[in-house]
Amino acid sequence: YKGMNFLVRFAVFGGVFDTVHKGHIRAAEIVDSCLHPDVLLFVPAGRPPHKRGRRINTCADRLNMLKIAVENAFGNRAVVCDFEVNSSELSYTANTLAHLKAVYGSDSEHFFAIGADNIAKFRTWHRPDIIRALSTLAVVARPGFDQSSAKLAFPESVICEGESVRISSTFIRRLASEGQDFSQYLPEGVDEYIKKRGLYPKEVTDPEEIKRFLSAHVKEPRIKHTLNVRDEAVKLAQKYGADARKAEIAALIHDVAKN
Ligand code: ATP
Ligand code: MG
Repeated sequence: YKGMNFLVRFAVFGGVFDTVHKGHIRAAEIVDSCLHPDVLLFVPAGRPPHKRGRRINTCADRLNMLKIAVENAFGNRAVVCDFEVNSSELSYTANTLAHLKAVYGSDSEHFFAIGADNIAKFRTWHRPDIIRALSTLAVVARPGFDQSSAKLAFPESVICEGESVRISSTFIRRLASEGQDFSQYLPEGVDEYIKKRGLYPKEVTDPEEIKRFLSAHVKEPRIKHTLNVRDEAVKLAQKYGADARKAEIAALIHDVAKN
């Protein structure tokens, strides 16, 4: 679009997208039908400043999942932007919008979409003043959060009316860790990718279940060795005041992939 002689309206969707879900797609549909942007631009975060405590899936996997989801939903009107995932810096929306403005210049207008859960948090983001100067906030409802406070907090924002769905990536990751099926919450094509890549595995913390896995996949002398290591690890944990259960699990899995 660069250099063309007309105004291009971008709706920008930032997020971690670990994993992308139907709630994201629905939110984008709401923004789309309210604002009629020319381009739906999805920007997955590379190093999200707000999620430093948790391990997130790789940029490549989150990018691929998002590409599958938005291409199926919006075809070539949607673009997944790799600006943040290709940067080693912390991912700040203010920087990303400045980059977009530098690339597309005065030919472009940017809406930055946020779910209502981000209204209160927005002030803790990096340089909210720059975000508001470079874009118009487009606020989408999110079940469980108050959308009406947006106009008070940001009078210039646009409220995008439409019924969103109660899904979060956190909820999906929890289902996954418990070994429950979460495919119904995923946009078309994403479930297949997750299965192929083995993402979001069930978390196994039951020693008996680990031992059953060992019996099926590890050779007998090594199982004996593993159980001895387990006994020693538990003893050491008790002696030094560490968590004996964690020590037991760590010892049981320490050679699990050897064979
Ligand atoms: P997590 O639970 O890990 O925070 P999430 O489901 O909130 O994940 P994010 O990647 O954090 O997903 O969200 C990206 C953007 O999409 C945010 O602006 C968020 O408010 C919005 N969003 C996410 N889920 C929904 C939903 N169900 N309805 C409306 N907006 C949503
Ligand atoms: Mg979130």
